[in-house]
Amino acid sequence: MAGTIVVFDFDKTIIDVDSDNWVVDTLGFTDLFDRLLPTMPWNALMDTMMGELHSHGKTLGDVADALRSAPIDARAVAAIRAAYALGCDLRVLSDANAFFIETILEHHGLRGCFSEINTNPSVVDANGRLRIGPYHAAPGHGCGVGTCPPNMCKGLVLDRILREAAEGRKRVIYLGDGRGDYCPMLRLAREDFVMPRRGYPVWDLICEDPARVQAEVHAWADGAEMEATLLGLVRRVLVEDAAAAAMLPAPLDCKLESSMPGGAAAQDGMPIMPLGVKN
Ligand SMILES: [Mg+2]
Ligand SMILES: [Zn+2]
Repeated sequence: MAGTIVVFDFDKTIIDVDSDNWVVDTLGFTDLFDRLLPTMPWNALMDTMMGELHSHGKTLGDVADALRSAPIDARAVAAIRAAYALGCDLRVLSDANAFFIETILEHHGLRGCFSEINTNPSVVDANGRLRIGPYHAAPGHGCGVGTCPPNMCKGLVLDRILREAAEGRKRVIYLGDGRGDYCPMLRLAREDFVMPRRGYPVWDLICEDPARVQAEVHAWADGAEMEATLLGLVRRVLVEDAAAAAMLPAPLDCKLESSMPGGAAAQDGMPIMPLGVKN
């Protein structure tokens, strides 16, 4: 067994905006959000904001409507569908919350493409108010990287995914844009791939000290570039897996050369498909 596990951040990676800000702004609560932001951690603030929305008569349906209107790049949707069709195991790893992510993925018909959603828990209470909690309960996660929010270290979650990848001899591709995506990107190995969004906070962190990232770095800027880059990497892994399965004595640099020019491998990727990419 081989193949690829693709781990997606959600805000500004799958969708083009931050879902928390989008809901607050769309429902007209930006001023209150900005006033409260300096007083508490983001995750606690979003729970507080859900209480504020509820007490001002905004229903869970209003929140869901706002979420369904969040912009998403059609090429990002196509990239997710294609990666799933190519047999990838897709995961979400996000500092948003379960209700926001599931509402949006279901709206775009993408929920079934993902085998798991790792994010902050959410629950609707008896009054119909959404409660949002931390992924790691107090006293926190103890991560020393310094770029993880107190409620969630994505690197710790990724460690478990990396163990699963090792068991299945799968390689990992990680896509993200934010500071919280830096810690997991540092944990990927040489045979893995990171796809930071160019010009966003995680890209700046990587550029500060590129040697800290062991995985291959493939930046992207928009949905079209994300699609081309992601599918190029997925097809490259399929080619390299097929070569390894056939025990071709191909040294690493030859393999890279023959499969890198994305175009060639990408365009006639179909003949590679029958090799049992889906378990
Ligand atoms: Mg993000
Ligand atoms: Zn961390």
